[in-house]
Amino acid sequence: MNLLRRTFCWMMLALLGAAPALAQDAKAVIADTSKAMGLDGVTTVYYYGSGAQYSLGQNNNPNMPWPKTPVNAYTRAIDFGAKSTRATWTTFAEPVTGGPAALANGNQTVNATSTAWAQQLEMWTTPWGFIKGAEANGATVATRTIGGKRYQVVTWNTPFKSPGGAAYKVVGYINPDKVVDRVETWLDHALFGDMHVEWEYTLWRDNDGFKYPSEMVQKRAGWPVFDLQVLSAWPNSSKVAQLINPPAPAGGPPGGAPRGGGPPGAGGPPGAGGPPGAGGPPGAGGPPRAGGAPGGAPAAAASMSEKLADGVYRIKSSYNSLAVEMADHIVLIEPGPSNMARAEQGIAEVKRLFPNKPIRYGVPTHHHADHTGGIASAVAEGMTLVVPEVSKAYYEKHLSTPRTLAPDALSKSGKKPVVEGFKGDKRVFTDATRTVEIHVIKGLPHADGLVVAWLPKEKILVYADMFNLPTAAAPVPDPPVIGTMVFLKNIERLGFDQPGTQILSIHSLNPDRLTNVQDIRSSIGSNKL
Ligand SMILES: [Zn+2]
Repeated sequence: MNLLRRTFCWMMLALLGAAPALAQDAKAVIADTSKAMGLDGVTTVYYYGSGAQYSLGQNNNPNMPWPKTPVNAYTRAIDFGAKSTRATWTTFAEPVTGGPAALANGNQTVNATSTAWAQQLEMWTTPWGFIKGAEANGATVATRTIGGKRYQVVTWNTPFKSPGGAAYKVVGYINPDKVVDRVETWLDHALFGDMHVEWEYTLWRDNDGFKYPSEMVQKRAGWPVFDLQVLSAWPNSSKVAQLINPPAPAGGPPGGAPRGGGPPGAGGPPGAGGPPGAGGPPGAGGPPRAGGAPGGAPAAAASMSEKLADGVYRIKSSYNSLAVEMADHIVLIEPGPSNMARAEQGIAEVKRLFPNKPIRYGVPTHHHADHTGGIASAVAEGMTLVVPEVSKAYYEKHLSTPRTLAPDALSKSGKKPVVEGFKGDKRVFTDATRTVEIHVIKGLPHADGLVVAWLPKEKILVYADMFNLPTAAAPVPDPPVIGTMVFLKNIERLGFDQPGTQILSIHSLNPDRLTNVQDIRSSIGSNKL
């Protein structure tokens, strides 16, 4: 008892004494690091190099890294005083299904009016910005040994608030060489929850006293989203003002639009309703993106469904789902596309159509971010997710991550994801009412574990991505679209190429319609794999 009481008193003393001491220590550590990095008196930084961007949430296999696109002619200028930064770059991306690579320019501008942490972090999580931010935001410090190295770990809260009201936090690791070799923060994300964003800064060089890492890698949700070999970095460069505010060229706005899922921060602020990677990630095969901007679910719920057969409804928006009535429950194909708002509108429509039957199973076509941006809502609804074994761990991991920054239906429900991973290439739902077959597509570059749904009695087939069906008048593409050929090869193998088969694309076609095998065959002429 005495020992406990003494321990308690000691802890109280330690706690009482801790905060001011830590703040004081932090000031000294930050000042020391600023001096060592050559940052005293530095108000702007400009650097350039070449590297790669990777499309978050669009990996071709759910257990592998985000797919890569080389980035060249990359420059970034940062003005810490003006809280502004601008980056420009060029990509040359080979589509995942083959065919000609496309040159594209990208740029990202963040200024003081950009109050989203997703944008601002591009400045404040650089090694230099981290120290500037720590100076201004009441940092604390702790000492930790990681991998045999003794680190001063500095933490500060940003002035930016998450949708849930919490301040976004930044943690930086100062190594014994007195440089920041790692910075981490967390962003709210519809699929990845409180998504870990982590920079690693290595291979430090010295430009006349100014220190910079010649390798920088940013990871999100565990895999790199951006890396850069920095060829040079300059403090207080006279080029910065013009780089941040380039003169408008005569022919229109500079550069091209940032590619979705591209360099960090290019994907728009979190919580803004857009699915990650909505812009068609280069290198990820450019899944068809009918309708462009996501989140455009119809306002009137009554117009959101279309009956395809008795008990079978298309749930309509720019992303479609298929609701299938079984004897005592509903199976929902593509339960969480686009974003949570779309998913919740779809769920509400299914409940309106079938008020007395629970939606027991949700079958996503594949794991890509634009098809799972609302999947958390499906879990909150109590659906068991049915996916091929290859994707099971992906859903379990990401849907179990805490969601404190932007509390949503899933975090409020307190539910854990229930994911059934089926072995082999086929999962069949069947009862007295109906049969629904789920088949894994083989040989598809776009995504391992992508499934189609087949209703044998109704001859209804549902697919996602793979190809973007052109209008009948469009010329046959050369080279042919690999995804279309893979699709046809699979449905011929499975015997779905029957007269009368109706085919629903998850991405609404333009013009909006169901399609059929003949139209799809015609779209690639007589080409075969
Ligand atoms: Zn996809």
